[in-house]
Amino acid sequence: MNYTRVYASIDLDAVVHNMEAMQRNLRPGVGLIGVVKTDGYGHGAVPVAEVIDPYVEGFAVATVDEALILRRHGFAKPILILGVTHPSRYAELIREEIRPAIFTMAQATPLSELSVQMGRKARIHLALDTGMGRIGMTPDESGADLASAIAALPGIEVEGMFTHFARADETDKSAAWEQYRRYLHFTDLLKERNLTIPIRHCGNSAAILDLPEMGLDRMRAGISIYGMYPSDEVGHDRVDLRPVMGLHSFVSFVKDVAPGQQISYGGTFTATEPMRVATVPVGYGDGYPRGLSGKGYVLIHGKKAPILGRVCMDQFMVDVTHIPDVDVDTEVTLIGEDGEARIRVEDLSALCGRFHYELVCDIGKRVPRVYLRGGRVVGTKDYFDDYYETQRSVAER
Ligand SMILES: *Cc1c(COP(=O)(O)O)cnc(C)c1O
Repeated sequence: MNYTRVYASIDLDAVVHNMEAMQRNLRPGVGLIGVVKTDGYGHGAVPVAEVIDPYVEGFAVATVDEALILRRHGFAKPILILGVTHPSRYAELIREEIRPAIFTMAQATPLSELSVQMGRKARIHLALDTGMGRIGMTPDESGADLASAIAALPGIEVEGMFTHFARADETDKSAAWEQYRRYLHFTDLLKERNLTIPIRHCGNSAAILDLPEMGLDRMRAGISIYGMYPSDEVGHDRVDLRPVMGLHSFVSFVKDVAPGQQISYGGTFTATEPMRVATVPVGYGDGYPRGLSGKGYVLIHGKKAPILGRVCMDQFMVDVTHIPDVDVDTEVTLIGEDGEARIRVEDLSALCGRFHYELVCDIGKRVPRVYLRGGRVVGTKDYFDDYYETQRSVAER
């Protein structure tokens, strides 16, 4: 590994720690589904899935393509797609035994027809809208009629049913309890129609941490795998989560500036005294938020170096007047630990008004990921090999 500009470190030991910490908080008989959508919240779906595989009953992703990436890497456990899958992708789903979320007849009918035609069985999870208002059938009599009609279709097997909490990450859990109550009521309506759901799941990370009593058969761990709490309001003391992602760079230039010198676009910072300024070759083009302009800081030799002026697309400047021995190639910690100091993703997102989930998802393709276990590099993943395929190059192939 020789990344001299920037890289994200992914601490796989922390992932294991987080899985074990969550498992200890679950009720007996409740299994975890590992949510690795958006390339594992920006951490890398495949390397994370590899490490969490022994701790989960299956995986969940947002799209067919994300599911196919996991299958291509040999993951055999059930994979659920949490969003809506277009019927044009059903054949791939059926072939690869990927479970779609289904909640309308228009979705279920072509799936049934195709699976019969292919001589296969399509396993599905029903999606139930108990208050999120996003996708899912309504948890009432007409929803129950629909669910039992879907279950009766040939070639379809209802393996599970899920709902998603909109407000489980708040101190006041009453909205989550109401959603849970609706979910259970709906399972009663299904029982009246002789439909029992083998795998029932409601809980997200917030519920795993604060409401493990809503375990049912499975709970879906997302952000907590990656060592972040869903919000400040969610039980930090019940489950100890360790941060997973670090973001590291190296100083590209150091200079002394005189009073009156402006720094970066717009001249929003002007030196009022002699200063020493270091340039960091990372910017919003890497997913490092521009909102940190004049607000954020990095760590150099374990000390805080505040951002001066605006974060550019590919570079920003920091004040190192008070930090000795800063040279070209000196290590810079944008996220993570340096000596006694630490910058958490949550600290940065609070500073710039971004959502912590969003910040890690947005760490860009220009940033290679380096995977660590026991302090040793066990894998790397970069996206440098971009290639634009034209209609002509396709024809010539
Ligand atoms: C993203 C998602 C999750 C995981 O949520 P976290 O807050 O990251 O734990 C669980 N279920 C569904 C349906 C989701 O879309």
